[in-house]
Amino acid sequence: MLVEVALPIPLPRTFTYRIDSPVADGTRVRVPFSGRKLVGWVVGAAVPARELKRVRDVERVLDDVPSAPPDVLALCRWIADYYVTPLGVVLRSALPAVLSDTGRTAPPVRTRRVLRIARELPTLTLRDEMFGRAHRQRECYEVLETMGGRADAAHLTDALGFSAAVIRALVDKGVARIVDERTERDPFADIDPGEPARHAPTPAQAAALEALFGAARAREEVAAPFLLYGVTGSGKTLVYIELLREVVERQGRGAIVLVPEIALTPQTVARFRAEFGDVVAVLHSALSDGERFDAWLALREGRRRIAIGARSAIFAPVRDLGAIIVDEEHEASYKQSEAPRYHAREVAVVRAAAAGAVCVLGSATPALESWHNSQRGKYQLLRLRERVEGRPLPPVRLIDLRAERRAEEDSAQPRGRPLIIADSLIEALNERLVKHEQSILLLNRRGYATFVQCRACGHVWHCEQCNVSLTFHRGRKRLVCHYCLHEEAPPALCTECRSDDLAFRGIGTEQVEREIGELFPRARVARMDVDTTSAKWSHHEILERVRTGEVDILLGTQMIAKGLDFPNVTLVGVVNADVAMNLPDFRASERTFQLLTQVAGRAGRGPRGGEVLIQTALPHHYAIQSALSHDFDSFAARELDERAGPGYPPHTRLVNIVISGTDERPVQDAIDQLAGDVLALLARHNAGDRVALTGPAPCPIDRIRGRWRWHFLLRSRSAATLGATCRRIQLEHDVKPGRAELRMIIDRDPVSLL
Ligand code: ADP
Ligand code: ZN
Ligand code: ZN
Repeated sequence: MLVEVALPIPLPRTFTYRIDSPVADGTRVRVPFSGRKLVGWVVGAAVPARELKRVRDVERVLDDVPSAPPDVLALCRWIADYYVTPLGVVLRSALPAVLSDTGRTAPPVRTRRVLRIARELPTLTLRDEMFGRAHRQRECYEVLETMGGRADAAHLTDALGFSAAVIRALVDKGVARIVDERTERDPFADIDPGEPARHAPTPAQAAALEALFGAARAREEVAAPFLLYGVTGSGKTLVYIELLREVVERQGRGAIVLVPEIALTPQTVARFRAEFGDVVAVLHSALSDGERFDAWLALREGRRRIAIGARSAIFAPVRDLGAIIVDEEHEASYKQSEAPRYHAREVAVVRAAAAGAVCVLGSATPALESWHNSQRGKYQLLRLRERVEGRPLPPVRLIDLRAERRAEEDSAQPRGRPLIIADSLIEALNERLVKHEQSILLLNRRGYATFVQCRACGHVWHCEQCNVSLTFHRGRKRLVCHYCLHEEAPPALCTECRSDDLAFRGIGTEQVEREIGELFPRARVARMDVDTTSAKWSHHEILERVRTGEVDILLGTQMIAKGLDFPNVTLVGVVNADVAMNLPDFRASERTFQLLTQVAGRAGRGPRGGEVLIQTALPHHYAIQSALSHDFDSFAARELDERAGPGYPPHTRLVNIVISGTDERPVQDAIDQLAGDVLALLARHNAGDRVALTGPAPCPIDRIRGRWRWHFLLRSRSAATLGATCRRIQLEHDVKPGRAELRMIIDRDPVSLL
């Protein structure tokens, strides 16, 4: 018989193969494909209309049970369709890497020897008859009983002192059996989850829970997704946990919890672990392939029922799914930046609806898309307006950097180095050090100086492969490109004019660290950014030091802005609020507001209260003014207004179409050609008035890794029309690679236009 196989290659179709006996959809097969072997997935009977010259045989069936269960396969089909990506590419990304590797089979499963009761001896008489005077055998049997009928053999001999002979006797008598049980490699196993902190829900939490329980109990009637908009410190985690208690413990169903990657520290995980113990599987990106596969299998087999992880955990093969929680739903990291370019929040909504599961999107700063949906009644809004225990949101003060700089210039004793931290922030930090309280300092720019410039001729050092300036890293003593990771030695002379008068401009976290070291030589400072956290558990180590009070000042990039709950942090300082404001992206204000509100939310979470100081050169900008009063509603209203005119999301849907290649001219020609084709295509389908095309133009960063990049935008109020347009482009207008190695990207609902 003939079947269609989805292959993980960038061609928008499936392929026909012959197979001896039928297999379920979602089963992996190994097939020959133009001289190679590929792993693919059977996705249905062959498409009858297809013209077949020579059909090849499936070489081997790789799964007994389909590795893509029906619900996951259906979800992948939706993604393939919506994000115009080949189904095989979606499946490869949705399943553990080891499953799509031709060279390897599934990693060896680790086992341990377990002694299990094989025959119950319910009465004392039976036990007397069986064991007589063999007291150790009887004890061993009774130990097994108290341990639920099974125990690790090594535990019985090493820890409890039963001899191998005793164990053998139990087996010989048929009372017990030795079995090899599969064990999971679980890197979190050694982390003490601590005692779960049980609080009685506040009235606001209780009201939210009532709505969620209602939806969870009305199984057949699928509820609209919930937007849980709760200010920082309002106790959203408790709502998640109580919902899971209902769905997982009382109803016996499964659940998925998505968290942004950085929040996947063992601390966050520990809270769920403390509540639900071993039913939790953690899908951390730092897992080895083997660990990841183990966790996946445990979910697949129902041995674990809650999957916690970043973006890709949305594909977890959880059985009988009852709830999906997306924490910090506004996070840009939920969007995958390579094919399939899916947004895990949108996928969560689709998967929950298909499964009849409750979907909760939680944030203190909802994405405008989600907010808009709640305003239009597509999502149900649940609000937690206040922090728990009546704690106030911390007061926020602005420090006007322009005024500070003017004062510096007029000063009789200028400090002779760039202004990094203003006097009032220095004072506030000092006060915390004296009182043994902790501070958090945010600067969302890593490295020492963000660019190097010649004072004589103005030359700025750029990456040879990318059109971006090189960042000076003082620790490594290198200039580094943050896009392609190219490194070079810092210059001593200007390459253009031979001047040695070079300026290291633009302040990064390394420079702030140095400044703090000079201002407060005795303070214990920890820096947390990409450069200090490359090792597997380094986040965890830094945060543990903060938690146990070994750190006075935690300095870092946006990594430190989210999710942290340290009651002894009473000061948050923002070194420069304007970093993201000038990026050529329509979400610049939203990003700025989110980051400021999130980091401000780290202050004053304990009984000592706290305050926030923000340094900015744009004190009157509405994003900063709204952050001043933690006022999401007014920010959202203003921002929605700002976006209505130019027609940006959430008022419209967007598609970013990018063509890149090694030479600029062919890229430009190809994008012009494609834009023309698309306009003709829209006209042909009478969609010209429903889909607008803007561009083509060079991308804001017009060269990355040696590839030139041009793009145009499609926008429309109709997702369906945009989808149909994208599919036609995919099928009819793919670019030919040619000499310039042209590539086309179709990015639906892009989160970055750089
Ligand atoms: P959010 O995620 O909304 O910022 P968290 O879930 O981290 O807030 O909760 C903030 C703090 O409040 C935590 O330390 C948590 O233990 C505590 N908390 C949550 N709910 C309650 C409650 N009902 N009563 C008292 N404390 C609570
Ligand atoms: Zn120069
Ligand atoms: Zn580069």
